[in-house]
Amino acid sequence: MKLEKNKLLVKFGKNISFKENLSKYSWFNLGGPAEIFFKPDSIEQLIDFLRTIKNLHKIICLGAGSNTLVRDGGFNGVVIKLSPKFSYINRVEKNILEVGAGTLDKTLSRFAADHSIANFEFLSCIPGSIGGAIIMNSGCYGDEISNILISIKTIDFNCNLKEFKRDQIKFGYRGTNLPQNLIILSAKLHAKAGDKSLINEKIKNYVKNKKNSQPSQIKTCGSTFKNPKDKKAWELIKDSNCNLLSFGKASISKKHCNFFVNEGGASSKDIEKLIESVRQKVFQKHNVKLELELKIIGETNNNG
Ligand SMILES: Cc1cc2nc3c(=O)[nH]c(=O)nc-3n(C[C@H](O)[C@H](O)[C@H](O)COP(=O)(O)OP(=O)(O)OC[C@H]3O[C@@H](n4cnc5c(N)ncnc54)[C@H](O)[C@@H]3O)c2cc1C
Repeated sequence: MKLEKNKLLVKFGKNISFKENLSKYSWFNLGGPAEIFFKPDSIEQLIDFLRTIKNLHKIICLGAGSNTLVRDGGFNGVVIKLSPKFSYINRVEKNILEVGAGTLDKTLSRFAADHSIANFEFLSCIPGSIGGAIIMNSGCYGDEISNILISIKTIDFNCNLKEFKRDQIKFGYRGTNLPQNLIILSAKLHAKAGDKSLINEKIKNYVKNKKNSQPSQIKTCGSTFKNPKDKKAWELIKDSNCNLLSFGKASISKKHCNFFVNEGGASSKDIEKLIESVRQKVFQKHNVKLELELKIIGETNNNG
C-alpha cells in the first residue's frame, strides 16, 4: 500500500488524499475516513486513475452526500467525488440541457428559472447532485428526474464509456436498475420554454411547502425509509410510537418522523440502531417491513 500510495500521490497530487474524513461529505456529518479519496478534474484524469488502481479496491462514487450515511469505520476502499469541474450546465439545443453530474440540483433549478426554462422547479427542493438524483430517481411534488431525462453518459470501473438513453434504464420509486459499477458523468435533460414569473412562483411555493413540512438546518439525510405501497413511512413511524425514540444523540425529527437527525455528537452506529428499532416497532404494529431509501456505506467500527 505504501508503494501504491506514493505512486498515486506523484500521479494525482492535490486530487488524491488518504484517510480523508468522510463526515464532511455527508449531510449527517458522520462517518469515518476513506482509505483513498479521489476528486477527478476531468474524464481523462478519472480514466487514468481507474487504470492505475486496476479495479483492485472497492469503489464508490459519492455525490453531495445528502442521502448517504457513512459508517463509523469509514470506507475501506476508494471514494470518488467528482470535482467542481463536473458542475456545468450547457444549453446544447433549444430544448436540451446537458448537465455535469456534479451540478447541484438547486443550481440547475435556479439556472432554468433564470433562463425561463420549465421542468426543473422540483429540483429546487432536493439538496443533492444530478448524479445522485439519477441514481435515486429523486423527486417531489409529483415530479421525478426520470420524467425529464433524455440520456446519461457514464464510465464503469473498468473504464468503459457508455451512453444510456432514457428507455434503456428502468426507473422505479427512488431507484434504477443501473449497474453498481457506474459513475454518471453527465446527463441530457428536457427543457421546456416557460414563463419566468410562473416558474419562480412555483419554486417559491415548493420551497415554502417544504419548509412547513420538513425540518431545515439540521444534520439529516432526508427520508430514511421509502414509502411502502399506498402508505406513508412517516405515518407508520408515528403510529408505532417511534417519534420519541433516540440512541445517543441520534433522534427523530419532531417535524417529520421519517427524517432522522444527528443532534451533534451522534455516531453512525446510533443512527443505525435507531433505524433497526423503528423497523422492528413498525413491523410489530403494522406487519410492514420498511425499506431503506437512505444508502449506508462503509465498515462498522470494531468498538461499535
Ligand atoms: C433535507 C433533505 C431533503 C430531501 N428531500 C428529498 C426529496 O424531496 N426528494 C428526494 O427524492 N430526495 C430528497 N432527499 C434525499 C437526497 O437529497 C436525494 O436522494 C439526492 O438526489 C441525493 O443526491 P446526492 O448527490 O446527495 O447523492 P449521495 O447521497 O451522494 O449518493 C446517493 C447515491 O447515488 C450515488 N451517486 C451519487 N452521485 C453519483 C454519480 N455521479 N455516479 C454514480 N453514482 C452516484 C451514490 O453512490 C449513492 O448510491 C432529501 C435530503 C435531505 C437532506
